[in-house]
Amino acid sequence: MQRWKIGDVTVTKVVEIESTGAATWILPDATPENLAKEKWLVPHFANEKGKAHISIHSLVVESGDERILVDTCVGNDKVRPVPAWDRMSGPFLSDMAEAGFPPDSIDRVLCTHLHIDHVGWNTRLLDGKWVPTFENARYLFGQREFAYWSAEDQEDAPYGDVFGDSVQPVFEAGLVDLVASDHVVNSEIRFEPTPGHTPGHVSVVIESRGARGVITGDLMHHPVQCAHPEWGSSADVEPERAERTRRDFLARYADEPVLVIGTHFAGPTAGRIVRDGDAFRLDPDA
Ligand SMILES: [Zn+2]
Repeated sequence: MQRWKIGDVTVTKVVEIESTGAATWILPDATPENLAKEKWLVPHFANEKGKAHISIHSLVVESGDERILVDTCVGNDKVRPVPAWDRMSGPFLSDMAEAGFPPDSIDRVLCTHLHIDHVGWNTRLLDGKWVPTFENARYLFGQREFAYWSAEDQEDAPYGDVFGDSVQPVFEAGLVDLVASDHVVNSEIRFEPTPGHTPGHVSVVIESRGARGVITGDLMHHPVQCAHPEWGSSADVEPERAERTRRDFLARYADEPVLVIGTHFAGPTAGRIVRDGDAFRLDPDA
């Protein structure tokens, strides 16, 4: 289990899926030829053939007495048009419990945005119904983000009825707090608006006793976007805004003592953003 300390805050990574393969389904410009040119990605973030390592994981943030779960992966039993994600039956919840975090011990669930691979474990299937997995938690969703997806026509949704099976049930159970994109969660944790991938997308900033960290969400899917912020994701709802957000993020955090924790970064998952000529890279050892 990977863990990081940021001042008094502890962040623990709980993996649902790790894979190595072509990244072009999510990053069309990240062809094997293009990835192979970025030697610094090997071995942690890609192999020598230009195949990308990608991870889907949750991050448990322990801050004061609170256990805060950031993003909730794909989930089990969900009917999904993506074959690898369809009706999964993985050990994610027992892995969480083994790491010391049984579902009923989670105080808050934060979703950086409401995409398929960030809301799945919000609910689980019980007697044929979707019920909140983290029954003692308040679920914090961005107001903008919630408004955007609740207005979308879910019948035509390309990823299945994600809102209906993974967002609506926790809302109906009265467990949701809709908050601003710069919401202050507590004295150590706050949201930072990073729109573009989705309209209400947020990152999660951690500050404790002078130490700083940030959880990216999907403003980037892979560290190669530090070197190529112009490479958008096929899932970016507002591509130009997403690119602006990536460039702002890199400028804000480059060469700063800030631990950047990637929501889909594999292997070491976290590092510092360092300037590399005109571009940037993620250095897990910095
Ligand atoms: Zn994602």
